[in-house]
Amino acid sequence: MPESASAVPDERIPHWIDGAPVDPGDGARLGPVHDPALGSRTASVVLAAPADVDRAVASAARAFPAWRDLSMARRQVILFRFRELLNARREELAAIITGQHGKVLPDALGEIARGQEVLEFALGFPEILKGAFSRNVSNGVDVHSFPEPVGVCAVISPFNFPAMVPMWFFPVALAAGNTVVLKPSEKDPSAAVWLAALLTEAGLPDGVLNVVHGDKVAVDALLTHPEVAAVSFVGSTPIAAKVYETAARAGKRVQALGGAKNHMLVLPDADLDLVADAAVNAGFGSAGERCMAVSVVVAVEPVADALLAKTAERMAALRTGDGRRGCDMGPLITREHRDKVASYIELAEQDGAAVVVDGRGVVPDGDPGGFWLGPTLLDRVPTTSKVYTEEIFGPVLSVVRVASYEEGVRLINSGAFGNGTAIFTRDGGAARRFQHEVQVGMIGVNVPIPVPVAFHSFGGWKASAFGDTKAYGTQGFHFFTREKAVTTRWPDTGHGGIDLGFPRND
Ligand code: NAD
Repeated sequence: MPESASAVPDERIPHWIDGAPVDPGDGARLGPVHDPALGSRTASVVLAAPADVDRAVASAARAFPAWRDLSMARRQVILFRFRELLNARREELAAIITGQHGKVLPDALGEIARGQEVLEFALGFPEILKGAFSRNVSNGVDVHSFPEPVGVCAVISPFNFPAMVPMWFFPVALAAGNTVVLKPSEKDPSAAVWLAALLTEAGLPDGVLNVVHGDKVAVDALLTHPEVAAVSFVGSTPIAAKVYETAARAGKRVQALGGAKNHMLVLPDADLDLVADAAVNAGFGSAGERCMAVSVVVAVEPVADALLAKTAERMAALRTGDGRRGCDMGPLITREHRDKVASYIELAEQDGAAVVVDGRGVVPDGDPGGFWLGPTLLDRVPTTSKVYTEEIFGPVLSVVRVASYEEGVRLINSGAFGNGTAIFTRDGGAARRFQHEVQVGMIGVNVPIPVPVAFHSFGGWKASAFGDTKAYGTQGFHFFTREKAVTTRWPDTGHGGIDLGFPRND
């Protein structure tokens, strides 16, 4: 439905450049920002033109030498102060997230906690960035190697974790001595500006972290900007693939994390109450708008009927509604996305699946104008259907029945994506086999959403990630640094002579 001019609110969400909010003024393109639980436009976000991107990158480039050369101790003090401020004021950030994304408040606090975990890991950077030293590799010769920051790093993030995904990257990038230009999703842009302002309050020098809002125009300008050294992207697979190609062609290092279709394999010996709880939590948390959501339950027969009954029983108790009212599940991000997700339920019916629980008829505890779709359960989804092959990114859980563990693993491995998966069983041997046989980057054993903790790294395989370095953990530091190796000889008096040969070991 087109919005009338009177429905456009006054609030404009500015960029954050050089330690201050920046609104490019009257000529700027604007994007709509909604409260998805109300269904109404609550603000407009300024969308960057290439000149705005230039300004943010120039600010980050100017700030880089001093930030790189600031002592580790000073960098640590600033980031520790940011951690303390965030900890004290996270409820404020959670309210912003719920107001623009729609996820329920405890879930918004959960995403902040997971982001903070990466920050806390990154605070240990002096240990990680120590480098290495080898004494006397040849007579009188020592070698040491050490990491240096890469420069200006672009971080481009999706709508579904407006605080956590930026925090997978910028704490590590900053700790390693880089400066950052963050381009958050234009659908829920305020969390990024709030974080940038808090970093400034914590003492981060101006220009070390900038935020530019925008769409393809801003992203394209970042991907080819001569002063951007590295690009970290998270979003859907088609855009991730394009970002990877474009930025790599422009000579940048790139990590581009894409979409997912995560399967949960249930063996006949599994505890079905545990499995039903896990399927509901992982399928419908954040309305299924998580890249690690479970979207397919692969039930090894004869468990499917019993599992469906237990799952449907739990779903009947879920409250869908406004995330500020103590509900279990909030709305979807936009009306268009809600309608797209609902269209997969129609398609499932056409393709011969059974709709066990239909979320289209949900009665929400919230404004009727909100972007509502209730939890939906589909059985016997044909693996040829787009409902099975495509990422839906909503509260739609499909069940596929298979005859054996082997058939289940073959199915998982035949898919395009390889982000997360889980096995539910009491059989340790089967779980051990699974983790070696499955072609997926993050695996849970009786854990439905196996997001690695901050000191391991996050990333999928196949169409779920382009590039060879995962996010955060030691791989994150690897991405945000490049190494120098120095070979040193301090000759003793009298040393000299000419020898054109290659150094020998004798
Ligand atoms: P999206 O791909 O639409 O957008 C991601 C970012 O790219 C945004 O900042 C957006 O402004 C920008 N963008 C959009 N279209 C663009 C274009 N044509 N050219 C250049 N940039 C463009 O993704 P989304 O809808 O915001 O987020 C949901 C997707 O992100 C899902 O596919 C989900 O699986 C994925 N995701 C993946 C992970 C992971 O770790 N693998 C984590 C979170 C989300």
